[in-house]
Amino acid sequence: MEGKMKVAVMTGARQMEWTEKDIPKPGKGELLVKLEYVGVCGSDLHFYEAGRLGNWVPDGPLVLGHEPGGVVEEVGPEVTGFKKGDRIAIEPGVPCGTCDMCRKGLYNLCPDMSFMAIPNERDGVFSEYCVHPANMCFKLPDNVDTMEGALIEPLAVGFHAAKVAEAEIGQSAVVLGCGCIGLVTIMVLKARGIEEIYAVDMIGKRLEKAKEVGAKEAFNAKDVNIEEFVRTLPGGGVDLVFETAGAEFTTRQSAKLIKNGGRVVLVGMCAEPEIVVDIGSLSAKEGDLKTIFRYRNLYPAAIKAVSEGTIPLKSIVSHIFEFKDVIEGVAYNVDNKSDVIKAVVKY
Ligand SMILES: [Zn+2]
Ligand SMILES: [Zn+2]
Repeated sequence: MEGKMKVAVMTGARQMEWTEKDIPKPGKGELLVKLEYVGVCGSDLHFYEAGRLGNWVPDGPLVLGHEPGGVVEEVGPEVTGFKKGDRIAIEPGVPCGTCDMCRKGLYNLCPDMSFMAIPNERDGVFSEYCVHPANMCFKLPDNVDTMEGALIEPLAVGFHAAKVAEAEIGQSAVVLGCGCIGLVTIMVLKARGIEEIYAVDMIGKRLEKAKEVGAKEAFNAKDVNIEEFVRTLPGGGVDLVFETAGAEFTTRQSAKLIKNGGRVVLVGMCAEPEIVVDIGSLSAKEGDLKTIFRYRNLYPAAIKAVSEGTIPLKSIVSHIFEFKDVIEGVAYNVDNKSDVIKAVVKY
């Protein structure tokens, strides 16, 4: 397909502008995809607000957006299994496929990963079209729309967190933070049969949503001391704690909330790389501390779970911005964090 497309690029902290680029041509093994929905992620907001994300500092313009759902527009050479018009979810990371990690199936740890909206990796999808390797694209069943397709990306993080935690029926869990990742984690825990889920946040709207999607109780940290609460539970704590806020306070708190032999999973990414963790509490309880980095091999299962109705994924969306308003939309999201639970961009 020939022609130009509109692209919103970040050029610095709190700076985004419109530009035009050629519509890319799909190379060998690639698809040209027309975007329909792209989720706005916390990491997009960090980049926009600070002009950087942790150690990732753009050295030039960067296109944000890495949670894409869309429709196949053109199929590149040597692609099988896709045709024009297929609705798909796109997994935004493209691993090298040949290194040690990739060969072990741990491709999220590939040192040569090319992930959307990461400096010097690949551009994000705040653009009308993108090209992507077909083997990182996943067809959506008829009853899963492309907005859900976009949201498979954060859902995959929740899947990975629950898997690493080895979460199982009959356990108890605390989820610290009820933003998008906290909410999808609650949904996945619930779907795995865990009923005793305690959600913690400081924003009322998010706490209501946490209850709606499966939390047994949702506590506002301004009113309730979660450390005191868990001491009233059998064993004085929970089996599993998921830190999804990416904050120093909640990371430090997490080990205090498990019962003996419990497990902490650090899901959120803190802005500061070096922070205090309560190793004393963790050791005294022979607790387990796990970290996760994105996800791997989970798109098919996540799509299937949404199709089967196990995960009420779309209910987390609080705001839909038109693509023509994406710059204002991202700014609104940054300035109104307590209002926006999850925003998506509609093309
Ligand atoms: Zn994301
Ligand atoms: Zn690799």
